[in-house]
Amino acid sequence: MSSLLPIDEARADVLAATAPLEAHQVPVEDALGRVLAEDVVAAHDVPPFANSAMDGYLVAAGPAGRELVVTGESRAGAPATAPPGEGEALRVSTGALVPEGAEAVIPVEQVTVTDGRITTNADVAPGQHIRAPGEDVRGGATVLRRGTRLGAAEIGLAVIAGRAAVLCTRRPVVTVLATGDELVPPGAPLGPGQIHDSNALTLAALATGAGAQVAGRVHIPDDEQATREWLGAALASSDVVIVSGGVSVGPHDHVKPALEALGVTERFWRVALRPGKPTWFGTKDGTLVFGLPGNPVSAMVTFLLFVRPALAALQGADPAQTRITARLTEPVPRNPGRDEAVRVRLTDTPAGREATPTGPQGSHQLTSMLGADGLAIVTAGDGEAAAGEPVTVELL
Ligand code: AMP
Ligand code: MG
Repeated sequence: MSSLLPIDEARADVLAATAPLEAHQVPVEDALGRVLAEDVVAAHDVPPFANSAMDGYLVAAGPAGRELVVTGESRAGAPATAPPGEGEALRVSTGALVPEGAEAVIPVEQVTVTDGRITTNADVAPGQHIRAPGEDVRGGATVLRRGTRLGAAEIGLAVIAGRAAVLCTRRPVVTVLATGDELVPPGAPLGPGQIHDSNALTLAALATGAGAQVAGRVHIPDDEQATREWLGAALASSDVVIVSGGVSVGPHDHVKPALEALGVTERFWRVALRPGKPTWFGTKDGTLVFGLPGNPVSAMVTFLLFVRPALAALQGADPAQTRITARLTEPVPRNPGRDEAVRVRLTDTPAGREATPTGPQGSHQLTSMLGADGLAIVTAGDGEAAAGEPVTVELL
């Protein structure tokens, strides 16, 4: 067992072989999920002009009980150009420009309107209900940092900062190859000894969720020549090649010899991880190749622990962002030789984040991934990890 590579070393090897991809301009409407390759600086104040926080009237500050003549209006998109004069008021709508010199807004609820005049029914303080320019963002301020993944709020910020496009790292191109003579496509009737190929879709879904562009999903039979041909094609067209199954040392496992024949340099083979020991990683000319175990849970776990950080780093995002600490709610038996990635549900309690195993944890029991929020890493050793023990959790 001592020849197995610790998880963190395997992960460090992956990251050491990974450099951010080149960047290009992406229109803001296409930028969801992309990672910024630049800081975004506000081109101007937001809001860009003083505006009203209420529907009401622009008036001078003063006591209740004044009668004012309504001489005009400042509407959103149709701003007034001058403040109200002495004894006057201007109708104003929420968000409409407050002209230079206008002192305050009195909400519509605090006035009585009688043909072209208002009576103020409340005292008016200077500046009330006026939003100043730059109250949200100051012109010149950095609103988004390089390395940020763009969600809805981030895209909104880029837009109000004045952008129509942002510089983003290119999405990594990923090819998923599922090996195995026993595999049949989703929905196909199962003959003796056959199973449905679930890994091609779970791995593609995980890759897409991690920001990659999945260029292909291919089923490869357990055949030496076919394995080499498909791997060769994938290497030529991908930033990352993910192979499921066929990486062990059985007579029908052709992936390692094929990769060797194709000149892919092995970086590691076999990790002190359960599930996921037979994991292989290598590189060729900057293309990353992951040979993941075929068991459906092992494939997902090794993707999350090794492939996902690589995809983050390729996009210039922080690969450590998905790690937290939580306390186990129940004892978990330790594996003597390998750290165990236990599928857990997380709950927030007054005492902190807690992690509860999802149920039976076999590497073939995909149900253990259902409802899981993360993978708790229970370190190798004797006995059990006690309830209350802190564990590192890789968030899903
Ligand atoms: P292997 O790593 O090829 O020895 O496969 C290990 C186990 O995972 C076997 O039980 C396979 O049938 C199963 N398996 C391999 N590939 C897939 C796949 N794409 N989808 C679901 N199960 C698979
Ligand atoms: Mg196989």
